[in-house]
Amino acid sequence: MTVHNMPDVAGAVAATQLSKMDAYVASHDFDIPTLVIDVDRVAIQYHALKAGLGRADIHYAVKANPAREIIARLVDLGSHFDAASKGEIALCLQEGANPSDISFGNTIKRATDIAWAWGQGITLFAADAEEELEKIAANAPGASIYIRLIVETSAADWPLSRKFGCDRDTALSLLEKAKRLGLTPVGFSFHVGSQTRKSEMWAPTLDAMADIWNAARAAGHDLWLLNIGGGFPAFYGDAIEAPTSYARNVVELVASRFPDAQKIMAEPGRGLVAEAGVIVAEVMLVSRKSDRDLHRWVYLNVGRFSGLAETEGEAIRYQFQTQRDHDQMGPCILAGPTCDSADILYEKRPVLMPMTLVSGDRVLIRNTGAYTSTYSSICFNGFPPLDVVVI
Ligand SMILES: *Cc1c(COP(=O)(O)O)cnc(C)c1O
Repeated sequence: MTVHNMPDVAGAVAATQLSKMDAYVASHDFDIPTLVIDVDRVAIQYHALKAGLGRADIHYAVKANPAREIIARLVDLGSHFDAASKGEIALCLQEGANPSDISFGNTIKRATDIAWAWGQGITLFAADAEEELEKIAANAPGASIYIRLIVETSAADWPLSRKFGCDRDTALSLLEKAKRLGLTPVGFSFHVGSQTRKSEMWAPTLDAMADIWNAARAAGHDLWLLNIGGGFPAFYGDAIEAPTSYARNVVELVASRFPDAQKIMAEPGRGLVAEAGVIVAEVMLVSRKSDRDLHRWVYLNVGRFSGLAETEGEAIRYQFQTQRDHDQMGPCILAGPTCDSADILYEKRPVLMPMTLVSGDRVLIRNTGAYTSTYSSICFNGFPPLDVVVI
């Protein structure tokens, strides 16, 4: 492998690779909002993360971007996959993934899908509840199980809340229950929160996890798998660590706390694909609501319902680029095109856009390869969903 030669500077990688996306974008017309993905850029990011992760396996979180070309390339690169549903598993298998390299990582699974996955050769399942263990035991007898923990210390830009995982005592009793049901409990998982910008932010979560891990081993559970989830950041304007050093630092934090974890798996989603994509959008209207209005409103042909769902709470702040960025800039409220008043991207913290901007202008939205295409609704208000082009 030539991973040692990979530049460990996010900007250096971006500078060479963005030109391919930019060349494609510059030489094409786009009638509808389009996400352009450079699949070579995914490969570069994979190598950069893998170089830092060392012996930890990458299980790509398919939900971040399930484009077939991305899955196929990751299969070629030797990636493993974290799938959340029958559909995601089927996609990975169709693209050539080995069933033993796919984990069924959603803690919420249909019984029939568990049986189907087991029949396909999937053997590693996540759970955070008794009823889920019962479903798995009935439909995938003897399967390997990891228990997902709630982590409450998240400093992430897009935290994953209390929806997933269970607390320490519940986790310990689920290990017992799994054994009683004839399953094979092998470890724990957690998710530090998506877009955790600095590696040192992982430390409190890992401390809490190590405490539970040690309690489980003291209770006689022979755990060997630690699934550290995702959280690897993408560049959205605020400084982040370059992927290799970020991953290396996280693995060091893990290794010092889990000396007996024989296998570590990481599930990057955003960190693998976000910087591989750019959305090509168009200005539909620039207006002011009154003479006294300080801010312009800029309406784009892409919004909350055509892929930019992570602007909810203005949590993820994308970077916008136009051909007029050398003109004077001024603040604006940025909104999507639909007739739903929730379709506003940024209002509390307005965005700087050129004062000369007019309808018809092209707007590029950078580093949008993750969590966009799948969030796009089918045809709200008759606006076409986000198109995806993989180059
Ligand atoms: C969404 C998800 C991920 C990916 O998270 P990122 O922050 O995008 O890396 C990983 N693991 C699980 C279980 C997830 O649900």
